[in-house]
Amino acid sequence: MSIQRFVDVILPLPLYSSYTYSIPENLQDDVQVGSRVLVQFGKKKYYTAIVEALHTNAPMGYEVKPVVSVLDPEPILRYPQLNFWKWLSDYYLCTPGEVYKAAIPTGLKPESETRITLNPDYEPDETNPFRLTDHQALVLMVMQDHKRLTMDELEAESGIKNIAKTVMPMLDAGILEIDERIAERYRPKKITVVSLNFPRHDQERLHECFDLVKRSRMQEKALLTYLDLSGWMNTTQKLKSITRQQLSDAAEVSPSVIKALVDKEIFKIDKKTINRFDAEEERNNTIHLPVLSDPQKKTLKEIDEGFKNQSIQLLHGVTGSGKTEIYMHLMARALEAGNQVLFLVPEISLTTQLSDRLRKVFGNRLLVYHSKFSDSERVDIWRRLLTTNEPLVILGVRSSIFLPFSHLGLVVVDEEHESSFKQYDPNPRYNARDAALMLARMHGAKSLLGSATPAIETYFKALEGKYGLVKLMERYEGSVLPEVEIIDMKEMRKKKEVKGTLSYPLRERILSTMKDNRQVILFQNRRGFAPVVICEQCGWTPKCAHCDVSMVYHKNLGMLRCHYCGYATLLPPLCPACGQNGLKIFGYGTERIAEEIKDEFPEYNVARMDLDTTRNKDAYQNIIEDFARHYTDILIGTQMVSKGLDFGDVSTVGVINADTLLNFPDFRSNERAFNMLEQVAGRAGRRQDKGKVLIQTVNPKHEVLHHVKNHDYKGYYDNEIEERRKYAYPPFTKIINIFIRNKNPEMCDKAAIDFTMALRKVFGDRVLGPEKPYVSRIASYYIQSIMLKMEVGVSMKKVKDILRQIYTSISQTPEMKSSVIHYDVDPS
Ligand code: ADP
Ligand code: ZN
Ligand code: ZN
Repeated sequence: MSIQRFVDVILPLPLYSSYTYSIPENLQDDVQVGSRVLVQFGKKKYYTAIVEALHTNAPMGYEVKPVVSVLDPEPILRYPQLNFWKWLSDYYLCTPGEVYKAAIPTGLKPESETRITLNPDYEPDETNPFRLTDHQALVLMVMQDHKRLTMDELEAESGIKNIAKTVMPMLDAGILEIDERIAERYRPKKITVVSLNFPRHDQERLHECFDLVKRSRMQEKALLTYLDLSGWMNTTQKLKSITRQQLSDAAEVSPSVIKALVDKEIFKIDKKTINRFDAEEERNNTIHLPVLSDPQKKTLKEIDEGFKNQSIQLLHGVTGSGKTEIYMHLMARALEAGNQVLFLVPEISLTTQLSDRLRKVFGNRLLVYHSKFSDSERVDIWRRLLTTNEPLVILGVRSSIFLPFSHLGLVVVDEEHESSFKQYDPNPRYNARDAALMLARMHGAKSLLGSATPAIETYFKALEGKYGLVKLMERYEGSVLPEVEIIDMKEMRKKKEVKGTLSYPLRERILSTMKDNRQVILFQNRRGFAPVVICEQCGWTPKCAHCDVSMVYHKNLGMLRCHYCGYATLLPPLCPACGQNGLKIFGYGTERIAEEIKDEFPEYNVARMDLDTTRNKDAYQNIIEDFARHYTDILIGTQMVSKGLDFGDVSTVGVINADTLLNFPDFRSNERAFNMLEQVAGRAGRRQDKGKVLIQTVNPKHEVLHHVKNHDYKGYYDNEIEERRKYAYPPFTKIINIFIRNKNPEMCDKAAIDFTMALRKVFGDRVLGPEKPYVSRIASYYIQSIMLKMEVGVSMKKVKDILRQIYTSISQTPEMKSSVIHYDVDPS
């Protein structure tokens, strides 16, 4: 009797341990670590799970279920992805299942709840029919009656057990598809390829063929055209693959002519699935690198030298110094060495411009992965990477760290200070920069962090010698950093030199910029029309029904919206509290500023870039392209306009109101404000003439503004690091925030107090709180937070183990049971 074999699998569920299933004998050869298997979990649910280990130890104490089916002959993960998942779940205090859920595109992990539909374009193909089994034919019939069914529903409708086993091959064949309820879905693109039905050297057969078509001019023409297009006679060259469409177009013959040649066994026809990310042309192997300036060359050399001692280097280069060009040189070398490169950037607005620049240099060796991709595009990229060891540059946002790279040689993190590298919700709440550094380490790759305003923690590590530090303090081709003017809005108001939201100096500067035929960027870190609505009669102000925040007025929608949960209501005509006509709006969001600027400068083109104007996929691209070709004169936006954009004609940047940035109640407030202001300032004067930045504030003496005015990173850093030391904040401590959410406020408080008490017994006064966070109710959940501040040097692994133990020890009380707990490690 053969030995019974088992697999431990990760399920896409928040479970701390892995689960064991047995492998039926007939499947034993097919299972590998990293393969997907279909398993049952719970009464009737099944899931796509990932094999984590194979073994022969029968688990004790429960009956082991068998694996239903193995979905991949080859693993869909590559080394060291599983280790990386493990690290993520340990470090960020979540479950491996949550990491798995985040890491893999939906199209690769169908489960009971997954909806499927019939592919509307599917037609049974006469030349290569997919032979349906009886079960599959039944599924097809059921699906023809129903537009969309979950796997569970389909199972019930068809009466077929373990439906996924029947459905998976149909998904792969493109007969059925996963429904994401959005326009695009995973549908492998198919092409029909024509070729001759015999080998190239068989001259005799070719002569016979000509005889066979002698009597039909059309058929002869089709044959001759094929020989010509494919380069059949030129045997020194690779045979080109020709699609049926190409042939019928070029020979000007109908498909029936081609079919006749197939019937005569002259042509044969193949259906090929092409991956959208497989380049159809020949791979473009020449790389066109930009020539570096002398300071850039020197910087590149320093980085190279640095890598000899330290595998992580920080490039502190001012805005417009040409960091990207330096990255390109390093990337090219990594490619030459046969390695892959991950180029991690924070936002899609960056990838748009960057991908154009990188495409020019790396051609087909560039793959782009951004957050507006549909799931099917994600699946395509995944499969593309999985089946290649080619050297490629992958330009990607946060979640690209999960892709199945083969031998990464270099990881570049641009704008490494960006707080959007941190995933805030849901788990895993990881920082993609830090995770990318770990990933690089697992691959034995070098890492380069780049920024004009490095994160305090990063710079600290560089000064400590943990990272190499290379500086590039001049802009490319001698363009200079812009002059910064701080405008005291209190003073301006006193002098009555403010109209609407614009002070006179900013207004005049915009006008002169327009006269010079240059462009303006205006920055305001608030979207919507007006952030405050108040009844002048009774003081009532609209609050979200589900969150503890005021609603923001959006004029073009005529709605009040909650920016935390998306809840929206109409702006009432009369005050709902006192019934009087007293509602007034205050403050400025981007929508209102855009409206005002349009009124003020009617002869110029104004555009707005914020979350509301960029919801659909191409919107960013369009706004950026319009601005790049100088159709737009004035661009107004939120932090989206502050990052990485590179436009030569921008000579003025205006910050409408710096005060909300400066007064945020959080230990990172100064850091965030400095980064944001310095970055947005960096958009000005990137080419010839000196740019100017005007910052409006009621706080002109704020030290952050002082450092921004002088572009004095070091001054700001020295100041900030002292504050952090004094108040024991990172990098001098490690912080874990614990959030407790409950729909019932008393339960929430009680759970928070219990948890805090239990933590204090172990961690003493390293435990702070519990307290209500700045926004203490979101989407109907009341929130309490506890802060755990550990001194650096303590084993965080141990801390986390203890945390889990403490949680387990109190998790059975009704308060804890009804609460949702999550951890935020290294908050940012
Ligand atoms: P950073 O990322 O440091 O802000 P960029 O890499 O965007 O700077 O460079 C700023 C501008 O200068 C870009 O338009 C870039 O194309 C140009 N530039 C920088 N270095 C070079 C170079 N060596 N050759 C040509 N153009 C360059
Ligand atoms: Zn809300
Ligand atoms: Zn009122």
